[in-house]
Amino acid sequence: MPEQHAATGIDETHDAGLRSWVASANQAGCDFPVQNLPHGVFRRGGRQEGWRGGVAIGDQVLDLAAALDAGAFSGPPATACGIDAHAASALALAAAAPLNGFMAAGQASWRAVRLALSRALRAGSPLEAALAPHLVPQAAVEMGLPATIGDYTDFYASVHHATTVGALFRPDAPLLPNYKWVPIGYHGRVSSIAVSGQRFPRPRGQLKGPADAAPRQAPSARLDYELEMGIFMGPGNASGDAIALDDARSRAFGMVLLNDWSARDIQAWEYQPLGPFLAKSFATTISPWVVTMEALAPYRVEWSRAAGDPQPLPYLDEGDARATAALDIALEACLETARMRERNQPPARLSVSSFKHAYWTVAQMIAHHSSNGCPLQPGDLFGTGTQSGPAHEEAGSLLELSLGGKQPIELPDGETRTFLEDGDAVVLRAHCERAGFARIGFGDCRGEVLPAR
Ligand code: CA
Repeated sequence: MPEQHAATGIDETHDAGLRSWVASANQAGCDFPVQNLPHGVFRRGGRQEGWRGGVAIGDQVLDLAAALDAGAFSGPPATACGIDAHAASALALAAAAPLNGFMAAGQASWRAVRLALSRALRAGSPLEAALAPHLVPQAAVEMGLPATIGDYTDFYASVHHATTVGALFRPDAPLLPNYKWVPIGYHGRVSSIAVSGQRFPRPRGQLKGPADAAPRQAPSARLDYELEMGIFMGPGNASGDAIALDDARSRAFGMVLLNDWSARDIQAWEYQPLGPFLAKSFATTISPWVVTMEALAPYRVEWSRAAGDPQPLPYLDEGDARATAALDIALEACLETARMRERNQPPARLSVSSFKHAYWTVAQMIAHHSSNGCPLQPGDLFGTGTQSGPAHEEAGSLLELSLGGKQPIELPDGETRTFLEDGDAVVLRAHCERAGFARIGFGDCRGEVLPAR
């Protein structure tokens, strides 16, 4: 293994000077340079072939199964560039679909694969000739869910979102007293989670406005998106055991973008006293490439509590790790209306924010979720909750941006929105940047609203 800074997890794979022999990976603004190496599940379009594990590099996918079958990682004869047995067995897990086995393998295996792929895909690698035939253009593949997701939990980790939304639903008590003590979450539906490209009909539900004597069933008129990150779980815990915070840091496999589509009118009527139900279970979209926690290591920033806020209970205290417990992931939400699509106009930006504002860290979410003995499993998905920043224009939902529908948003082409209309597509994007390191991105998380059935 290369020399590695134990506290930061930064090693030779993060070197900003690395270039890839895959030319598109070296283009400025590319989401998938050789410093990223996210994992996903794909198959070639138009062919009868099974799902397989791949790695994104530039605008290509490296077909790991095909490369392994061809012995491409062994290197040409008489060179010492081949990978060791541990990396080879870990790569075989990364080549399989779904990725649950790879997620279960743990951090040492993830790092071995990352190092092997970095060395294989960087400029000057003796493996170039052997691996090049196993690249597939991303434009020619269909992406699948990265894992068989056993359970999906959505947290509520932006205090700014919680405060603004709380004020809209409960003007007298915007932030409930438990918020700053306990990472709030609820259990969501797995069956309606799909990767980018999801199209779904506007949900129907029970609606009851403040002036209505009784509810009626109708298509939601206040359909919204939520700009979130998703976290794929690595090794879990046995039932009854808890994952300690120190241990929790190495248990997250990686992150994706997540859009928790939300029907605000259904939500407002149904959420009391047990929380979200049909307002959020009809569709959830994630970006298909899982950016590993190893790839995110350079973009860690300090996590702290604002003066006057309670400190976390001991089982949630990041302690000495506070200096690097948060992640600065720049987030962006864009809207493409049907008219923009017809006119070939790019999606309009609605807001930008950063995951660094999250009130709770990824490790705190894992430690809290398992603290009662609830078993977490490899491939479980956590949503972080809507990642709104402190400023109004950094809000991660239309509910916040339009002040509960009172103030329409003007789009560049003159259209306006309070909530989503049929034909609207929401595109979420994210990237990390830091001086001295490469820029890495997450790819698009796109979903489109169809008319109600
Ligand atoms: Ca949510």
